[in-house]
Amino acid sequence: MSLLHLLLFSGLVIAASSSSPGSRLILREIADQKDKAVELNTTNFDSVLKDTPAKYAVVEFFAHWCPACRNYKPHYEKVARLFNGPDAIHPGIVLMTRVDCAMKTNTNLCDKFSVSHYPMLFWGPPIKFVSGSWEPKKDKSEILVIDDGRTAERLLNWINKQIGSSYGLDDQKFENEHALSNITNYNQISQAVYDVEEATAEAFDIILAHKAIKSSETGASFIRFIQLLAAHHLSRRCRRGAAEILVNYDDLCPSGNCSYEKSGGNDTLGNFPICGKDVPRGYYMFCRGSKNDTRGFSCGLWVLMHSLSVRIEDGESHFAFTAICDFVNNFFMCDECRLHFNDMCLSVKTPFKKARDFVLWVWSTHNKVNERLMKDEASLGTGDPKFPKIIWPPKELCPLCYLSSNQKSIEWDHDHVYKFLKNYYGPKLVSLYKEKSVSGSKEETVAATEDLTVATNALVVPIGAALAIAIASCAFGALACYWRTQQKNRKPRRR
Ligand code: FAD
Repeated sequence: MSLLHLLLFSGLVIAASSSSPGSRLILREIADQKDKAVELNTTNFDSVLKDTPAKYAVVEFFAHWCPACRNYKPHYEKVARLFNGPDAIHPGIVLMTRVDCAMKTNTNLCDKFSVSHYPMLFWGPPIKFVSGSWEPKKDKSEILVIDDGRTAERLLNWINKQIGSSYGLDDQKFENEHALSNITNYNQISQAVYDVEEATAEAFDIILAHKAIKSSETGASFIRFIQLLAAHHLSRRCRRGAAEILVNYDDLCPSGNCSYEKSGGNDTLGNFPICGKDVPRGYYMFCRGSKNDTRGFSCGLWVLMHSLSVRIEDGESHFAFTAICDFVNNFFMCDECRLHFNDMCLSVKTPFKKARDFVLWVWSTHNKVNERLMKDEASLGTGDPKFPKIIWPPKELCPLCYLSSNQKSIEWDHDHVYKFLKNYYGPKLVSLYKEKSVSGSKEETVAATEDLTVATNALVVPIGAALAIAIASCAFGALACYWRTQQKNRKPRRR
């Protein structure tokens, strides 16, 4: 690896987080609670509702001394079980929450929503609750009072009417009528933002679980991939988590011997979650299959790879190619996938010089996998019936990508395919964050988008740390060692 190569990553930056540190944790911790509804209070109300991937929220204002509220709780929980937490039957759609107005600290919050009786239930897009309020006679509020939710059945009926669904209290996991089966809807990719974070976290967990960094070679491969994530992951907290691992790598994995335990300290790889501790799990949305065992992680991994490919510069293209190939080969624990993918990597004889070529390589490689699986899944019946494999993108999604096509072959307009992929896995993929900006002001919208696309305005990550650590053992000479020592002394403090 040349010094030039290393310097390509010297622009690595991470930004300070704007969301409350605890909010994601709270969403994730639903998993560990007996109660499925999320307990909100003055402190976490805005941040939890801002961070949830769910499209809608129900907020129950209650008082713990109120007997009717106690009797109502099992009803509310029956509905919350459907929507909240990693075992949710219909995840990512409704966040069910409650606020105890009998707690003095919540008085102002309850007043803002003019809570006049207990329990009082509200419905609306989560973002509308953030810094929000409700008054009885205000027209056009997007926050509605749920006026018919006295039993679990009635509450669910009310919700079904709002969103045109037909959920039942007895639904079982993955009877998923909201699976996004319409693959020709261009906007759906924006829902994959959380999937990419989750797939990244899952990939990292698999590495930990398998103690998969077994040699200096796999260590180097791990570092290259983490380096790519630190520079180009679409999510700021994944970039930051990756940068922290890079900076601390030598301490965590001295001579390639990593310690993997999650002890709560600062001295093992397990204590450096790649996308932070608070990424909600079990929320695959764009990648959600209609069956328990389809899609999810591997779909998220593809979207991660495409989203990385469209973010790199020309000079990084071969590095990115190597990082991805080695990562799949060493850490994707699906043997068939790994071997096939490795063959396709080995078939590349000339180093990539242009990012465009790399973007198109990932795309055509994915299509080769699709083509093979189309046949396998048809003969074995193992595919997801709602998501049959296709050669992608279909004409409905990108008519201009097609020069001509017949049943046997497609002639692509590669310029258009490239343009399409750049936009689809670039700005379009992160556009959901625009909508989630709290007040929707132009400035915040821009800030939210920048936050996800290019890390700006940031605490500069130890410039040389990432690149020096990428050559883990200072094998590339004294200069890199010098950089590294200098920069490690300035490593960012963990929160
Ligand atoms: P996926 O194929 O996972 O695609 C996810 C999404 O990406 C699609 O919904 C679509 O929106 C988009 N997309 C589809 N094609 C393209 C494209 N060409 N370019 C850009 N975007 C596209 N499974 C096996 O059974 N055998 C294998 O050998 C195998 N190899 C794999 C190798 C790798 C590196 C990975 C990440 C996965 C592999 N898989 C393999 C899993 C398989 O490819 C699918 O991920 C899985 O079957 C789930 O399919 P899916 O319907 O979610 O769509």
